[in-house]
Amino acid sequence: MRDWPIWTLRRPALCYWILVDVAALATVTWTIISSDTPLPSEVARFAAIAGTAGAVIIGSSIYSHRLGETERNPWAAHLSYLTAGVLALPPNLLVLLLFGPALHCLLAQRPETYRWVYTLSATALSVFATRYLLGWTDPHASLVLMVGGAVVLLALRAALIAFGLKLRNPAATFEENVGEPIDVILGVVAVSIGGLMGCVAQTNAIHALIAGPSLALLERAAQLPQWRRSAQHDAKTGLANAVHWDSRARYELTKGADRTRPMAVMLLDLDHFKRVNDEVGHLAGDAALAAISLLLRGTVRRGDLVGRFGGEEFVVLLPDATPDVAESVAERVRKAVADLTVPTMATDGKPHELCGLTVSIGVATTTRFGYELPDLLVAADAALLAAKAYGRNLVSMA
Ligand code: GH3
Ligand code: MG
Ligand code: MG
Repeated sequence: MRDWPIWTLRRPALCYWILVDVAALATVTWTIISSDTPLPSEVARFAAIAGTAGAVIIGSSIYSHRLGETERNPWAAHLSYLTAGVLALPPNLLVLLLFGPALHCLLAQRPETYRWVYTLSATALSVFATRYLLGWTDPHASLVLMVGGAVVLLALRAALIAFGLKLRNPAATFEENVGEPIDVILGVVAVSIGGLMGCVAQTNAIHALIAGPSLALLERAAQLPQWRRSAQHDAKTGLANAVHWDSRARYELTKGADRTRPMAVMLLDLDHFKRVNDEVGHLAGDAALAAISLLLRGTVRRGDLVGRFGGEEFVVLLPDATPDVAESVAERVRKAVADLTVPTMATDGKPHELCGLTVSIGVATTTRFGYELPDLLVAADAALLAAKAYGRNLVSMA
C-alpha cells in the first residue's frame, strides 16, 4: 500500500481526490441503505439496460482487440447507460449499474487504478446529483428537466474531474483538463442516447435494446479523438507532424499578419546524427529524438508551435518574437541541447548515457521575410545550411 502510485500526487490533489472518493462511497452506502427492495419490473428494466450496454461494450472490445487497436477511453458508453439508469431505475439499482465501469477497470487491468476510481467517484456523484434534480424516488421526465439534468451530469462531472487534474498538475492546459471539443460532443451524444434508452425502457424494459446499435456506433465514434491525435502527431516524439504543423503555422501567421505581430520560424537539424545511429544504435537515436522534443517543448513558451519537420529536423513557430527575441530563444535551445544527456541502451544491451549532441539552427523572421510560410521556411533553411557550413552547433539568422 505504501508504494501505491496515488501517494505520488501533490498534497492538495491527494486530499481532493480522496475527498471525492469518500463522498462517492458515502453517497453509494446511504443510497443502498435507504432504498426499498426493487420491484420485479424494475429488476427487468435493470437487466435490459445492463444487458444491452454490456453486450455492446464487450462486443466492441472484442472487435477492437481482433483489429489490434489500442485501448481507448470507454467513458462515453458508460455515461450513456448510466443516464438511462438515472431515468428508469430506482437508486439502489443505479448503484448496481455503477459496477459496470468498476468491472471494466478490473477486467482491463488499467495501470493507474486510482485514477479510474477517482473518475468513477466523480461520475457517481454527478449521476446522483442529476437523479436528485429529476426526483430521487420518482424521476420526472419532462423535456426541460431532462435537458437540465443532462447539463448538470456533464458539467458537474467535467468540473469535478478538471479541478482534480488541475490540482495534480497546475501547469496543465484547459484542454488537457476538460478535453477537446470532440470529447464534449461525445458526452452530449452519450447522454442523449442514454436519455432515449431510459425513456423507452420506462414503457417496456425490453425496448432498451433499441439503443444497442446507437451505443455501438458511439463506441466506435469514441475513438475519433485518438484517431485525430495520431493523424496530427508524430508517434516517436509526440510533436505535431509536418502537415499539422504547417496548417497551424499558416493559421497563426495569418492572424499575426492582421495585427502585424513580429514572428519567427526556427528550423533545427541535429548535427552528425547519423553517427549516433551508427555508433549507439537506432533505438538510442529514437530516444535522443524524444528527449530533444521534450527539451524543445520545455524551452519555448506555451504558445510557440513545435513540430517534427522530418527525420532529425524540428521546426518552431514563435509568435510575438522580434528578431532579437528569436535569436536568444534559438541560442537557449542550442545550449540546452549541448548540455543534454539521454539515458539509453546501447546495441550490446548495456545502459549508455548519450551526450555531446549538438544542433544547428536557422532562424527567419517576419520582419525581413513577411508572413508567407514558404518564404520563411526557405529563408530559415538557407540560414540552417549556413550554420552547418560554418561548423555546426551554431545559430544563424537569415
Ligand atoms: P548533418 O550534421 O549534416 O545534419 O549530419 P547528419 O548525420 O545529421 O545528417 P544526415 O541527413 O546525413 O542524416 C540524418 C540522419 O538522421 C540519418 C537518419 O538515420 C537519422 N534519422 C532520421 N530520422 C530518424 C529517426 O526517426 N530515428 C533515428 N534513430 N534516426 C533517424
Ligand atoms: Mg537532416
Ligand atoms: Mg542532421
